[in-house]
Amino acid sequence: MNDTALVDQVSTYSPNVNKERLELAFQFAKKSHGSQKRASGEPYISHPLEVAEILADLKLDEDTVIAALLHDTIEDTPATREEIDKLFGEDVGALVEGVTKLGKLNLITKKAEQAENFRKLLIAISSDVRVLLIKMADRLHNMRTLEYVKPSTRKRISEETMDIYAPLAGRMGMQWLRDELEEHSYRWLNEEAYFTLTQKLSEMRKKNKGLIQEIEEELRTKLKESGYNAEVSHREKRPYSIWRKMDHKQISLEQLSDIYGFRVIVKSVDECYRVVGMAHTTWRAVPGRFKDYISNPKQNDYRSIHTSIVGPRYQRVELQIRTREMHRVAEYGIAAHALYKDDSLAQTPPLTSQNKMASSSAYQWLRRLVDQLLEGDNPEEFLEHTRLELFHDQVFCFTPRGSLIALPRGACAVDFAYAVHTDIGNKCVGSKINGRNMPLRTILRNGDEVQILTSDAQTPQPSWERFVITGKARSSIRRATKETRRNQYYEIGEMVLARAFQRIEKVFEVSKIESSLHRFPHTNANDVIVAVGRGELPSSDVLSAVYPDITQEVVQRRHAATEGTKLTPEDGWFNFAKVVGLKFRLTPKSSKNPDPLQSLPIRGHRDGFAVDYTVGHALPGDRIVGIVMPGEGINIYPIQSPLLEEFDDELDRWVDVTWDIDENDQTRFMSRIMVSAVNEPGCLAQIAQLVGDANGNIHNLKMIVKGVDYTEMQIDLEVWDLKHLTEIIAGLKGLSVVSKVDRILT
Ligand code: MN
Repeated sequence: MNDTALVDQVSTYSPNVNKERLELAFQFAKKSHGSQKRASGEPYISHPLEVAEILADLKLDEDTVIAALLHDTIEDTPATREEIDKLFGEDVGALVEGVTKLGKLNLITKKAEQAENFRKLLIAISSDVRVLLIKMADRLHNMRTLEYVKPSTRKRISEETMDIYAPLAGRMGMQWLRDELEEHSYRWLNEEAYFTLTQKLSEMRKKNKGLIQEIEEELRTKLKESGYNAEVSHREKRPYSIWRKMDHKQISLEQLSDIYGFRVIVKSVDECYRVVGMAHTTWRAVPGRFKDYISNPKQNDYRSIHTSIVGPRYQRVELQIRTREMHRVAEYGIAAHALYKDDSLAQTPPLTSQNKMASSSAYQWLRRLVDQLLEGDNPEEFLEHTRLELFHDQVFCFTPRGSLIALPRGACAVDFAYAVHTDIGNKCVGSKINGRNMPLRTILRNGDEVQILTSDAQTPQPSWERFVITGKARSSIRRATKETRRNQYYEIGEMVLARAFQRIEKVFEVSKIESSLHRFPHTNANDVIVAVGRGELPSSDVLSAVYPDITQEVVQRRHAATEGTKLTPEDGWFNFAKVVGLKFRLTPKSSKNPDPLQSLPIRGHRDGFAVDYTVGHALPGDRIVGIVMPGEGINIYPIQSPLLEEFDDELDRWVDVTWDIDENDQTRFMSRIMVSAVNEPGCLAQIAQLVGDANGNIHNLKMIVKGVDYTEMQIDLEVWDLKHLTEIIAGLKGLSVVSKVDRILT
């Protein structure tokens, strides 16, 4: 065993490395550990050597690699801090001592002690974050070789890794490290589940082998055709993250859509957006899956664009699009800042790697944490606080009785209600968060105490579906609203039929449909009535089925006699409105001036009543008109929408509507714009940046024309209202690369 590979590895990224010093460190460690053996039976020196190699893979500086070689000498051998200081300098000595102190901390113990130890851990790593990097590499190698230690130790180390080190790695932005640490811990903490999942995955892998290569190949071809020199690779989700997702969303392995993801690495930020545009034009984008972490980076510096498309073989596929630099940060996190790879920065004064890392936001998080720690005096409270922060994809809330409810980040009070019990969710009418009355849609924060107010008269509201994020809440709401909506259609059908029977001087009774059920495709009378309510089955068809001897002519004539006249409040749609608690006025088209006093106030999705503004891209602030869609609800259009022409001859479907948006309503509305931009490096990035800064959200992006000099793209934008959109359009027009911006209403 020797250190040749290590020295070579360090020389590749650090040509001026002092090879003799590295060699000396290796020999010193080897001599100090002497005949010591690892649990695997290997000579002990194999461990510090591998730890040093892990850090060299992260391209860390010479001192860190040397300290890694020496990291167990003070603890386990006669070597002393003084000796190390003398041979390798005080920097290395301090690193080794820091790691040694960390090693003595038992992080999974009694609460008070654990808190105190965690406090020490943070202080140690905040003085020099490289201590943490060495400790992490040490832990990683120990986890890789955990099968050799006895089961009870295995379990304790795995718990500690899962609870402390893996989230810490994630928080530092070192995603691969977090993944691998979690993988090993999961394996030893849930051996059976791990084994089953691994097996299933390998079956799936065999089955999908051709598919993955096909998709990857097609991606490559399309990118090349479009002139991008991009790297494409695929990744498979690891058992632990699959398990976590299945557990969170309560879904099966087969339902997971993103087991396979593809990564596209391009040259510039601008190309990232161009590739998204290309992908969305070539394949169908899966709605709601576009995430722009470039203009809105994650807390740990992660930047990338995520989107899902329906791929070549109608398979949902996740794409992560990023530059090489973003990729480096995504993989190495805080360690990515350790070395400059860019000589153009040589102007600035040379920084030590410690200083460079200090500039990353992951490090600043750590600093803040330590500052808080030094100010506070209750270690237990601090630990709770910190550990909650570490689990950054979860929030922990409490019931009034103090039970802990863990929810995915972004969950709201309704999610909480369903997490407590389905009945509580179904009947919730309000919430008190930390003692204050808050809307049910309020997003919960760590430590919130949530009291759910319920009422027996309440039923789940379809509008909740727009803000709940847990699978349990979503499926319960769906189930319940399906029923409610069906009941409403039934009531409408009943009224429409009563009216139709009345026209031919008969009385409507359900039994009349039952006795002529053989003339309907439906299996029972209820279904017939619901179909009428939905507008799928004309009432005249029901009449001729129930009274076959009444000629179609009579039915039609009777019907025609009442047509043509203005609808009266007894008519179907008016009653429909009454059923769902709305009041609106039917207006002839000539009066395109809505009368605010008599208009239908529109706010969010009406409960049990579908109001759709997306078809016409209507925004609060637009003057709007509603079109009744039989069986569906009302579509809202801006008054100037070209789509309204289609309804010119159907005056009785026009409804006056006005906006009634609560100022605190956080609903975003979808708008669409067409942007013409000069084909210039960075132009797309500028556009995305402007939209992000203006608090808009790009929902989708499509290249419509891709000329040599200019690009025309359609952007779907989520905004608060017309004013917000107008501001963004004005901002875009102010960019020198943008030549034209138009709002699109189709
Ligand atoms: Mn060690």
